[in-house]
This record gives sequence, structure tokens and C-alpha cells, in this order.
Amino acid sequence: MRRAVYPGSFDPPTNGHVDIARRASYLVDELIVAVGVNVHKVSLFTSEERVQMLQESLVDLKNIKVMSYSGLLVDFLSTVQSSIIVRGLRNETDFASEMEMAQINSQLSPGVETIFLPAKDSQLFLSSSCVREVASLGGDVTSWVPEKVLHYLKNKL
Ligand code: ADP
Repeated sequence: MRRAVYPGSFDPPTNGHVDIARRASYLVDELIVAVGVNVHKVSLFTSEERVQMLQESLVDLKNIKVMSYSGLLVDFLSTVQSSIIVRGLRNETDFASEMEMAQINSQLSPGVETIFLPAKDSQLFLSSSCVREVASLGGDVTSWVPEKVLHYLKNKL
């Protein structure tokens, strides 16, 4: 069985994340969307909330599982018996940092491969931080996040 892991902060999940998860799920037997728990990073949503938002937003995709992990991504990969990491690429900045992470992960765990999916044209600008910023200032983020996430944002802000 070909299983891949799509890791990220997802604080909150955006339509860009959902698009990458959907397209990646077509390429493998099972996709695990993995919410990274980083105690050193201040987040708007708890990891439980981020897992819930992803589960609700991806409910129609039957071969996707949402989990959270802490510690090294390569350790999580071996726990779930996967050697494929999926990441999205929006621009040169993503490319530079993603190449570095891919190399680090393959040094830490030879055999682990990172697959990049290009962001959709209409979502090149879209990030969780821009959603947090615009929503906190009262702007309309309806077209940037799944409907389920809108409710979480309204309750949080
Ligand atoms: P991280 O803090 O690990 O970068 P993010 O939640 O910001 O977590 O992003 C997770 C992954 O999703 C990254 O590979 C990122 O490049 C990708 N991503 C984020 N926003 C988009 C988008 N609009 N379109 C495509 N991919 C995206």
C-alpha cells in the first residue's frame, strides 16, 4: 500500500491546503494529513482544533486520515510506515525552504522522498498567516478557506 504524509501547521487550513491534499490523495492509496505540534510556535488554533477543521474539510475524501504529530517528521513517517512526504510549492521562497527541508529529511532518513505539488494559480498568494491577519482585521476570507473553517475563525476572533 502506497501511503504518503502531507505535514504542515494548518493554522488554519486554507483552500490551498485542501487543494494539495485532494490532488495528493489521487496519487496514493492513503494520505495522512499531519498537523505538526510545535511547542515553540505560537498558534491561533490548538492542534485538536486544526485536526478537527481538516477532518471536517476533507470528509468527502475517503482515503485521507488526519493526525497530529510532534517531534521529527521522519520519526512520524516511520511510525505510520510511510516514506513519502507531500508539500505544496507557491513561489521561490517556498522552493528555497522546501528544498532545504527535503534534503534534511532525506539525510535523517535515507529513502524518504519529498514530492512537491505546485499551487493552483489562483491560490499562489494564499497562506494561513494572510487568512489570520485579514480575518482578525474584519476582512472577508470566505473565498480563501473551507466553509467549516469560517465557523472556527468566527468563534475564535
Ligand atoms: P508549514 O508551517 O509546515 O509550512 P503550512 O500549513 O504553512 O505549514 O503549509 C503546509 C504546506 O502546504 C507547505 O508545503 C506549504 O507550502 C503548502 N501550502 C500552503 N499554502 C498553500 C497554497 N495556497 N497552495 C498550495 N500549497 C500551500
